Amino acid sequence: MSQPVFAPGEMQRYQRHVILPGVGETGQAQLKQSSVLVVGAGGLGSAAALYLAAAGVGCLGLADADSVDESNLQRQVIHDTRQLGRLKVESAAERIHALNPWVQVDCHAVHLEQANAAHLIQGYEVILDATDNFTARDVINRACTALRKPMVYGAVYQFEGQVSVFAPHLGAPCYRCVFKELPPDPTEPVGIFGALPGVVGSLQALEVLKLITGVGQPLLGKLLLVDTLENRYQCIHISQDPGCPVCGTGTAAV
Ligand SMILES: [Zn+2]
Repeated sequence: MSQPVFAPGEMQRYQRHVILPGVGETGQAQLKQSSVLVVGAGGLGSAAALYLAAAGVGCLGLADADSVDESNLQRQVIHDTRQLGRLKVESAAERIHALNPWVQVDCHAVHLEQANAAHLIQGYEVILDATDNFTARDVINRACTALRKPMVYGAVYQFEGQVSVFAPHLGAPCYRCVFKELPPDPTEPVGIFGALPGVVGSLQALEVLKLITGVGQPLLGKLLLVDTLENRYQCIHISQDPGCPVCGTGTAAV
């Protein structure tokens, strides 16, 4: 791997990574050379994108077609009151640049769907699912499976959250191995406890950092369940389903 050129003064901000066992200058260079697509610039995407940018991921893609609404600001902390009405990807990009000007941000102001998923995803090393509906996750999962990209999954509902890394090409299940039936997407907004997306989005960012630097064990074949009311954090084992409609034997994932 050729060493990336850090601009003068750039490494200064990563001192606490450089002294960290398992990360160091090598890990920081890996982060600088990496690219991550964050699908969804809402609650999960806010925490994940901010921490990935701060950590020095070289290229961050943001995909979201929505604009900032006042009802978002209770948890989508990458945006603020001045940004009401602006495209979320533009609002988020501005905040990321203020936090770390060395990060390249690609704004994709589109809904990720079957027709554009492969095109969007193929340019990135890791895909972070920060969406809020089953349909979008299914689309991301199919594209990630076909393109052999790890999908760092996160979801929140009321006071609870989930995190996993789906990656059939690494021997781990895909989203549809675990969630075999896709329920209809809710037509009404569901309640989300304020700081919960911050916790789950930050856990997703950690999984991305682990995948890129190779430190620790990512949540491959494991589903982390977070219950904030009871302070229960439970990791359950999940496995690939040979009959999975997306990654199972004999399926041609598209
Ligand atoms: Zn599967």
